[in-house]
Parts: sequence; C-alpha cells; structure tokens
Amino acid sequence: MVSADVLKSNIVELFTYLIPFIKSELIEPGYISSEDENFLEIQEYLNEFDEYVNGRLALLQESLNEVEVILQCPVCNQETVEFKDETDAYCYFCDKNIKNFAEKYIDSFVDTYSHVMDGGESPLYECPECEFETFLCLDGYQFVCLTCGAKPTQDDLTTCSGPRCNEKLIYSRYSENGDYEVHFCDVCEDYFKHA
Ligand SMILES: [Zn+2]
Ligand SMILES: [Zn+2]
Ligand SMILES: [Zn+2]
Repeated sequence: MVSADVLKSNIVELFTYLIPFIKSELIEPGYISSEDENFLEIQEYLNEFDEYVNGRLALLQESLNEVEVILQCPVCNQETVEFKDETDAYCYFCDKNIKNFAEKYIDSFVDTYSHVMDGGESPLYECPECEFETFLCLDGYQFVCLTCGAKPTQDDLTTCSGPRCNEKLIYSRYSENGDYEVHFCDVCEDYFKHA
C-alpha cells in the first residue's frame, strides 16, 4: 500500500516536471493560454501539496539533522533516508523501513547503463569493507556502501596502485606519527607476497 503522504510527494515530483513542460510546449506556442482555468487549477492544487510536503519536511528536519548521511528515498523521492545497512534503511518521510533499499536505490538513482555504452567508469565500486559492488560516491566526497553501510569520505580512501587490481578503492593508512603509508589491496598484497 502506498500511503497518502508518499502519493502527495510523488505528485509534487511529477508536476515539478510537468509544469515547465506545459509552459514550453503548450503555452508558449499558444495552444493554451497561461490563464487557462484548468492550468491555474492544477497549479493551485500543486501549491497546496507543495506546502503540505514542505511542511512535513520541516517537521522532520530536526530528526534529519541528527543523521550523518542522508540518502534519497526511491519510494517518495525525498532526501529523507537514514541508511544503516541493507537491512535497515529508514525513510522519515515514508515513516518506515524501505525493503530492498539498495536494489531500488540503484534502479532509481544510479546510472549503471551509460558507462556500459560510453565505456566510462561504473558509478558502483567494490566496497573496501565488504567487497560487494555497491559502493558509490554521493557528492564527490561522501561515499556509502549500499550493502554494509560503510560511510567513508574521500579523505579516508585512496586507490590501490598495485598490479593485480584495477585501481581498487582502499582505506588510506597512516603510521603512528601520522605519515601516509603506501599499501595495496588484499589481492595485490597477496601477489607481492607470492611473487
Ligand atoms: Zn521515502
Ligand atoms: Zn560494503
Ligand atoms: Zn590492488
């Protein structure tokens, strides 16, 4: 069952795209007037929903401020998910745990297709913690693993320069006096040991 809140949130999302489309494709070429009664009515409805959704988001803000890393929800599309690990992804807006979060999140928000077409890099990396290929960068700095819930930042990570992997992401390592220590991923370390 989809709750009324989720429905409202999705309707707002939908109209956010539809209204500019109506303006550029129907109003500007003169098919309908910008004073068209139906169009005005739709906008009025939307404003009510918008206010409602924003009101609810404002109420949730305090709880969300406590959350370290917030992910977008594939069900309601709001940035309101507290992701702990694959069994615990709680959306404050939906007010429930999102089942199969990783799968839904990847389907909705991660472009796993164009890199296959353009030969670019996959947006999903192998996680340095659990080794599943569900590790992604959110904003160029914060990383999250959609399986184990590891949340390192760019500062915590480096790429392995060993010969056996394809620049696998690994945790940076520092010695006791704070010096950066060059090291390799498990596969490459293994290779050096047995080479
Ligand atoms: Zn949600
Ligand atoms: Zn992981
Ligand atoms: Zn390596």
